[in-house]
Amino acid sequence: MSSAIKPSRWILKKAARLGVASLSAPKALVPRVIGSEPVFRVLTYHRFGPCHRMPFSLDLKTFERQIRYLAEQKLAASLSDLERYAGGGLHIDRNRVLVTIDDGDPSVFEIALPILRQYGIPAVAFVLPAAVPGFPAMTNAQLRELAANGVAIGSHSVNHRSMARISAHEAAHEAQESRDRLEQALGEPVRAFAYPFGTRSDVSPEAAHAVQSAGYTLAFTSLHGPVRPGVEPLMIPRIKIESGDPDWMFPAICGGSLDLWRIVDTVLPMLQRPQRVVYP
Ligand SMILES: [Zn+2]
Repeated sequence: MSSAIKPSRWILKKAARLGVASLSAPKALVPRVIGSEPVFRVLTYHRFGPCHRMPFSLDLKTFERQIRYLAEQKLAASLSDLERYAGGGLHIDRNRVLVTIDDGDPSVFEIALPILRQYGIPAVAFVLPAAVPGFPAMTNAQLRELAANGVAIGSHSVNHRSMARISAHEAAHEAQESRDRLEQALGEPVRAFAYPFGTRSDVSPEAAHAVQSAGYTLAFTSLHGPVRPGVEPLMIPRIKIESGDPDWMFPAICGGSLDLWRIVDTVLPMLQRPQRVVYP
C-alpha cells in the first residue's frame, strides 16, 4: 500500500484533482455549484512521512500547514460534533471540518499526534486492532494515548478487506471482532467504522448492515461529498487529502472544491474494470 504509483498515473491523477478543484474553486462558482449553506466535510488522511509519488503519504510540513489553517479558521470539529450534526442536533453557522486518518499507521502517533495536539485539533483514527500484511499497527498504549489527546479511535476492520466483496458472515466478523478488540484495548466504546478502501465497490447495504449489527452508529466511506443533516449515518462521505497538491487546494477543498469528485467516484469503476484502483 505504501509503494509509489507509476509516474504516468501520478501525473494523470494530479491533473484530474487539479481540474476538478479549479473548476469549482472560483468563489463565485462555488455557491452555485455546491450550495451556500454551511456544511460538514470529513477529510481522509492516511500516513505521514516521505511522500514522493505516494499520494497517501503526507510530509510533516504540509500536514502542519493544513492543521494550522483549520485552527486559524476555526473550522475543526470532533466526531461527536459530526454525530450530533448528522442527526440534526447541532446547527452550524459556518463550514466545519472533521479530520480522519485511516489505516492506523504508526506515523499517526509519531508525526500527526504532536501537530494535532499543538493546534488543539480533534481527529479520528480508523485503525486495525493489530498489524496485518501491508499495514503496520500502533501499540495499544499508543492508541490509548491518542484517545486521551482528542483523537477518537474508530475501527477499520480486522484484515482490511473490502466489506462488500467478502461473505456476510466474514463482514460481520470483521466488524464485530475489530470492535471487541479495540474496546478491550481502549477500555471505552468504539462507535465509528471506516470501510476499507471505501469506494463504490467496497460498500453495500449488506456491508452497512454488518456494521450496524456490530453496534456502530457511524460509518465512513471514501466516496466524496459534503455531509448534511439527515445523511445516512452508515454511508458518510469523505474527501481524500493527498500529497502533491498545490497549497491553494487545501483551503479550496475545505470550501467544497472536491465535492464534485463524487462524479469521478461514480464513473471511475465503470471505466476501470477489470483493472481496479486500490485506495487504502
Ligand atoms: Zn484503509
